[in-house]
Amino acid sequence: MTNTLHIIGGGMAGSEAAWQAASHGIPVTIHEMRPETGTFAHQTGDLAEMVCSNSFRSDDDEQNAVGLLHWEMRAAGGLIMAMADRHRLPAGGALAVDRDAFARAVTETLRAHPLVTVAPGEISALPEDGTWIIATGPLTSQGLGQAIAAETGAEALAFFDAIAPIVYHDSIDMSRAWMQSRYDKGETEEERTAYLNCPMDRDQYEAFIDALLAADKTEFHEGETAGYFDGCLPIEVMAERGRETLRHGPMKPVGLTNPHQPDVKPHAVVQLRRDNALGTLYNIVGFQTKMKYGAQADVFKMIPGLENARFARLGGIHRNTFLNSPTLLDDQMRLKSRPHIRFAGQITGVEGYVESAAMGLLAGRLAAAELSGKTPPPVPQDSAMGALIHHITGGAEAKTFQPMNVNFGLFRPVDGLKGGRRGRKDRYKAYTDRGKEAWQGWLDAYPLPRQTD
Ligand SMILES: Cc1cc2nc3c(=O)[nH]c(=O)nc-3n(C[C@H](O)[C@H](O)[C@H](O)COP(=O)(O)OP(=O)(O)OC[C@H]3O[C@@H](n4cnc5c(N)ncnc54)[C@H](O)[C@@H]3O)c2cc1C
Repeated sequence: MTNTLHIIGGGMAGSEAAWQAASHGIPVTIHEMRPETGTFAHQTGDLAEMVCSNSFRSDDDEQNAVGLLHWEMRAAGGLIMAMADRHRLPAGGALAVDRDAFARAVTETLRAHPLVTVAPGEISALPEDGTWIIATGPLTSQGLGQAIAAETGAEALAFFDAIAPIVYHDSIDMSRAWMQSRYDKGETEEERTAYLNCPMDRDQYEAFIDALLAADKTEFHEGETAGYFDGCLPIEVMAERGRETLRHGPMKPVGLTNPHQPDVKPHAVVQLRRDNALGTLYNIVGFQTKMKYGAQADVFKMIPGLENARFARLGGIHRNTFLNSPTLLDDQMRLKSRPHIRFAGQITGVEGYVESAAMGLLAGRLAAAELSGKTPPPVPQDSAMGALIHHITGGAEAKTFQPMNVNFGLFRPVDGLKGGRRGRKDRYKAYTDRGKEAWQGWLDAYPLPRQTD
């Protein structure tokens, strides 16, 4: 059938995409390789298997960006949220679920849908025609990974993430830090002041190295290659190679003058670089790490200027297949070079079960609209969905693109509200109120025919 939507991968994103499209009257075939071909993390043949934690994180839709994403997915009739709500376990403010019952319920609901077919087997080549969504996730099979890389160019498809921690700009103490590019390089004032610098004296540096060496680290999962490249070594591994290594690497103090103490030469300098077009997020350059999350927060707050830092995300290195979406995808998540193929889920450069399912929801709706001959308005940037899709398809810096969780740093600021810690509650409420209105407006403005219409 020419109007069938084909989805490769029945994980969080593929399952939600299938549900959205089928709910709008579009026949769907999900091509899923498990259980015939497994991955090192999945244990079952169920769709939407949670590979690690059983939590969809905060369910607070007034003060938390992931909670807002839950709200938006529920408003759109999302399957992942509906099944998570049905199999919810007590977990305070978090949405934790009985993972087996949850995945079984998603699988049974999709298999029972008259418009959904689940076709077992691995797909290893890019489809030449038809309408497709690739939602094969962080553990995309090798054959398909190679086919994607052949289309995009190897440099635009990563097989590991090397995530440096990302800090909210408004939590950095600028009475200690300053803006300057090394040797004031750059044609424009903006380029000459592109980096945010945090200075260390000798004692601070030595204490920092001690803390790095002593911190708790995460091991690679069994079956996950530990062969990361020299170009993206974790900082603690660099420190293990010698106490001075970081001072000759990402923490070199050269070409920089601290305007707060112009006569004192820093012993080391930590640099942060803008991570989004809005300038609300900064990543700590070269600080990818395998330290555990709790240890990271403690160690990074030792950096002068970051004592009160709030982290939009902490660092990590994982096996993770993902595209350089800002260069490869259009604003409807279509591959620019082959627009009959959309991507969805973690492979687009979002991170986490909820974000992956959310991008599946959008891809499913957008594909359904296309197959119904409709052109939906752009996804509103003020919604959590819109903030995420905007980030991955354009807002993020393409050169340093790494997977991203949803967070309020991706949202446009709300005018007239107090910054900093004290204004945070009002600010977050304003973001979520504005997001809900924008998202509901998009759903209302773009009613697809329901299967029963
Ligand atoms: C080890 C590990 C631990 C993680 N822990 C967490 C966590 O605790 N919390 C969290 O929020 N996120 C976690 N993640 C991230 C998590 O994988 C994603 O958040 C989420 O599952 C991604 O959804 P997805 O639909 O994009 O991919 P997946 O859910 O992985 O679904 C992709 C599907 O595609 C199938 N597939 C792959 N290649 C092919 C092919 N060629 N043909 C057919 N089918 C194929 C796979 O079998 C799979 O079912 C973890 C990831 C990994 C790898």
